[in-house]
Amino acid sequence: MKYKIFALHNFREIPQIALLPEEEQFNIEVVGHVLPFKTNNYVVDELIDWNNYKNDPIYILNFPQKGMLSEEDFEHMAKVIRSGADRYTIKKEANKIREKLNPHPAGQLEYNVPELNGVRLNGIQHKYNETVLFFPSQGQTCHAYCTFCFRWPQFTGMDELKFAMKEVNLLIEYIKQHPEVTDILITGGDPMVMKTKILDIYLSSIIEADIPHLQNIRIGSKSLAFWPYRYLTDNDADDVLRLFKKVVDSGKSLAFMAHFNHYKELKTEAVQEAIKRIRATGAQIRTQSPLLNNINADPEVWSTMWKKQVQLGLIPYYMFIARDTGAQEYFGVPLAKAWEIFQKAYINVSGVARTVRGPSMSCTPGKVRIIGTTEVKGEKAFVLEFIQGRKNDWVCRPFFAKYDEEALWINDLKPAFGNENFFFEEDLSEILLK
Ligand SMILES: *Cc1c(COP(=O)(O)O)cnc(C)c1O
Ligand code: SF4
Repeated sequence: MKYKIFALHNFREIPQIALLPEEEQFNIEVVGHVLPFKTNNYVVDELIDWNNYKNDPIYILNFPQKGMLSEEDFEHMAKVIRSGADRYTIKKEANKIREKLNPHPAGQLEYNVPELNGVRLNGIQHKYNETVLFFPSQGQTCHAYCTFCFRWPQFTGMDELKFAMKEVNLLIEYIKQHPEVTDILITGGDPMVMKTKILDIYLSSIIEADIPHLQNIRIGSKSLAFWPYRYLTDNDADDVLRLFKKVVDSGKSLAFMAHFNHYKELKTEAVQEAIKRIRATGAQIRTQSPLLNNINADPEVWSTMWKKQVQLGLIPYYMFIARDTGAQEYFGVPLAKAWEIFQKAYINVSGVARTVRGPSMSCTPGKVRIIGTTEVKGEKAFVLEFIQGRKNDWVCRPFFAKYDEEALWINDLKPAFGNENFFFEEDLSEILLK
């Protein structure tokens, strides 16, 4: 299958789009200037149900929607575009709106970039002891873009903010100096947009470095959902599978962290065949997704998705709360509702699918999971815990926040039961000052 990209400059050439009302096309154009927008022929022809596009989760996942901007910002952008402004002006106005949308949530830029011998390593983040994130510079794009993406500043031309690193040697050197690191998570964008030749340089160097404490190599990718032909018919499809096998044969575990937002992404013959081929290399596939209003905010969608994943040999791993970035007003689900959806979905699947953890917020102090709600002496509270913490010792210690039906993110929460602060706050300020 030949990969064909559609984005702002050519989306009106998509036959299914040309049939939509002009107003719908214009809305895509307006919002597509601000939020990430890119799709491809697989998504358009095999995933989206065009007869019901307005409610189709994959359409909403790939095509910018009017409601993703505030009315004021939408009208402003629409006016700029209608006035026939030049590209430079449009871009400038779009950037102003983006700046308001918290493009770098959870202190990603300030706090997680480590140093090697006094030099900042811009393509690496190291937040939790065991796992180092690596952003290879050639993997900072995706086969299509999710409209909710929290990494969107990496794609929208704000180049100075782009995390990138060419030198895998620095990564290896860093891991050698950090015996606590057991995992590398290669991420992006999507590292699987890289040609096998490039990915091979990274992976082979890592396994040849033969670092005994490094056990797990993980690759975070949405390619199974957005372009399964990467593993079927692309020129280097067989090569990439051989490379996976090489990693597994070296004695490291290879975990493919697959991003699926909806069971519809698991239905095509192409994705099922790609999953089989990846699993045949000995790699394991684990799955994760944020919970998104207008896309998957329904327990039925999750339980169906987890069941289907298990049937296909995948391991459900994380349900995330949508980050406080981009179109959070459109996608955000209140924490109380998120827990309800998680619980309703979880009780509907057997133990083999209950490997999933969530709903979890990746925020400045760590990954915070909502365990549930409780009431003590008439005060209703959320029960929370760290799945990962900037300080390891925070993990697994239940703590309480005042119940708030509307809270969307940890910043909206206050300690319960008369406490002034959450138990981790003092430590956190100390760590962040360092
Ligand atoms: C989620 C995450 C990891 C990996 O955490 P696991 O629980 O091991 O999957 C590592 N680093 C950062 C910054 C993360 O957000
Ligand atoms: S696949 Fe991941 S990185 Fe790429 S656009 Fe979607 S959420 Fe963002």
